[in-house]
Amino acid sequence: MSRTNIDNLIANTIREDVRSGHGYTVPDSSGYIKLDAMENPYQLPEPLRVELAQRLADAVLNRYPLASYATLKEKIRTKLGVPAGYDVILGNGSDEIISILCMACSRQDKRAVVMAPTPAFVMFQRSAQFAGMDYVGVPLKSDFSLDLPAMLAAIEKHKPSLVFLAYPNNPTGNLYAEADMVAIIEALGEDGIVVSDEAYQPFARTTFMDKLPRYPNLVVMRTLSKLGLAGIRLGYLAAAPALLDQFDKVRPPYNVNVLTQVAAEFALDHVDVLDEQAARLNEARTELSAALAALPGVTVFPSSANFITLRVPDADKSCAKLFAERVLIKNLSRMHELLANCIRVTVSTPEENSVFLNALKASLQA
Ligand code: PMP
Repeated sequence: MSRTNIDNLIANTIREDVRSGHGYTVPDSSGYIKLDAMENPYQLPEPLRVELAQRLADAVLNRYPLASYATLKEKIRTKLGVPAGYDVILGNGSDEIISILCMACSRQDKRAVVMAPTPAFVMFQRSAQFAGMDYVGVPLKSDFSLDLPAMLAAIEKHKPSLVFLAYPNNPTGNLYAEADMVAIIEALGEDGIVVSDEAYQPFARTTFMDKLPRYPNLVVMRTLSKLGLAGIRLGYLAAAPALLDQFDKVRPPYNVNVLTQVAAEFALDHVDVLDEQAARLNEARTELSAALAALPGVTVFPSSANFITLRVPDADKSCAKLFAERVLIKNLSRMHELLANCIRVTVSTPEENSVFLNALKASLQA
C-alpha cells in the first residue's frame, strides 16, 4: 500500500484558499430550457453551417495554430471597429483575458488591487484571488448606477492596478453613465488600467472602443460568446500595442485553437447574420420586459444586454417553480444585498420566452 495519504498530499501542496473554496459551478442543463447563461438561442443558418463544416474539415490539426493569429486579428480589427494603430490579443473566452490581465498586474513586492463596482461578473474577483491580488468591490447605487464619489474615494484609498467596468454590467444589465466611466479613467491616469468589459456590446451597441486613442490606460475587452459563438470560446482585448506586448508575455502559447480560429474567421465573414440575430433578440427583450413589468409585484430593471434582471416577491419560490417546469434561470438573491429577490433570465426565442413567462406567472399565483 502507498505511504501517500491523499488528504495529507492536498494539505501539503494545494493553497488554503483553493482548498476551502469552490469552483465555478455550472448546473447540468440536459432536458432544461437554458436561460441562465446569456447564450444566443439561434444557430448559424443551415447553409452557413454546411460551409463552415467544410472549412473545419480542411483545417490543419496536426500543427499548432499559427502563432501570430494574423488573419483572425485582422478580421477583428477591421470588422469590429478597432481604431487604427490599435491591436488585439486573443483569449480562450474573455474569461482567459481577465485572468491574463490579473496575472500581468499582480506583484511580488505588495498585494496589487483589482477593483470593480458590485454586483459584478464573478470572474473579476476569482481571477484576482487566484493571481494573489486583493479585490475591492464598491457597491452600486440601488438603481445599479455607479456610485462615482464612492468609486473615486476607493481609487484614492486602494490605488487599484486594474478596474473592471462591465459595460453593460452583468448581472444588472444596465450601461453606466459614460461621464462616470470617463471620470474613473481620468482619476486613474497612469496609475491604473480600466477595462471596459463589453461582453454584451452586440446588444447595447455602444462602446468605449473609439476612446482608446484618447486614454492610454483604457483597454476594451469583448467576446464572440454572446453574439452566438459561446461554444468556440473566443475573447479579445483591444489596447495600445505597447500595453498588449506586456499582456502577451503572460498569455499561454497557442491559447486559441485551430478549430476556434477557423470558426471565428468564418463567423466574422458573416457577422451581419449574427448582428441580425442580436437585433431580433433586442426586440424580444423589449417585448418580454413589458410583459414582465405588467406582472403583479414584479420590478423589471432596464437592460441593454441579452438578459433581463427582475425583482420578484419570492425569488426562491419562483426559481423552484421554474426549475420544476424545466426552465433554468439564475437566482441572484444571495449574490449581493442589492439583489434581494432578484432573478436573471436570458432573452431567448419567442417560444422559450413564453414558457418562462407562463411558469413565472404560475409561481406568482401559487
Ligand atoms: N464578462 C462578462 C460581463 C460576462 O458576463 C461574461 C460571461 N458571462 C464574460 C465576461 C466571459 O465571457 P466569455 O468567457 O464567454 O468570453
